Amino acid sequence: MLFDLGDTSTLSARELIRVSHVFVSHAHMDHIAGFERLLRLRLHRPLPLTLLGPPGFADQMQSRLGGYSWNLLCETSVDFRMTVQVFDGAQIVEVAEFAAREQFARRDLAVPELPRGAVCSEAEFEISAAALDHGIPSLAFAFRQRQRFNVWRSALDTLGLPVGHWIDEAKQALRDELPDDHMIAVPGTEPVPLGLLRAQVFERKPGQHFAYVTDAADTSANRARIIALARGADQLFIEAPFLHADKDVAQATRHLTARAAGEIAHIAGVRRVTPFHYSARYGADVAKLANEVSAAFNCK
Ligand SMILES: [Zn+2]
Repeated sequence: MLFDLGDTSTLSARELIRVSHVFVSHAHMDHIAGFERLLRLRLHRPLPLTLLGPPGFADQMQSRLGGYSWNLLCETSVDFRMTVQVFDGAQIVEVAEFAAREQFARRDLAVPELPRGAVCSEAEFEISAAALDHGIPSLAFAFRQRQRFNVWRSALDTLGLPVGHWIDEAKQALRDELPDDHMIAVPGTEPVPLGLLRAQVFERKPGQHFAYVTDAADTSANRARIIALARGADQLFIEAPFLHADKDVAQATRHLTARAAGEIAHIAGVRRVTPFHYSARYGADVAKLANEVSAAFNCK
């Protein structure tokens, strides 16, 4: 999964080939310009790709695809499909599919049924979003793992159990809170009661929670939405493009200051904050921005 798709130069082709979902805050160029490289790598591979963005995003992606000639694609081409979803701040309201075999002609699909605020819901995690005011809507995201189960490797060895897919099935059974006498099939050995695995092999941990916030004006409505997404997060990634001394520029371009980012992280009670999206105006002097975030975050 990727959160925004700007400069992908730090990602290898191997990594990009494995991406299934891209959550895009908004379509300013520095958040989506990496799409071309991703598409070029994925075009002849069948793994589907889902992109989600704010209102207008499906039309924007359709326009981007329309900027190329696809005459060499036909019904025998690799079945690569790209789905573009639009989130309006409360729910997904539009879904468009673009298939390589159809030369990326747009096909509108039914919208998925998800809880309010959710953009992706899987057995192991949920991703929710909020629309922030950046002059245009800019989406912020929170990733919440439902529950984590660590595996004690030494316990597997003691019980003579191999590593394999059955571990995922057992984790799902634990997540579903199935009874101790529920039997788990393990290849090459007798089925094992879930209770034994629960007691000896798996350790239940609270799920990880992180939030990603960028390109948002410092308004009380934005602060409230960011804090709701990030409250108690293990990790908050938040933009800190301008110093408080340059707050007029921040205000004019609808961005947070580093001090505002630190204050928000502090109020949300996150465990760690990682600032990013530094303005080029500070050159090599970006430590000033990080220091301003830290000072506001760590203030008592
Ligand atoms: Zn922007």
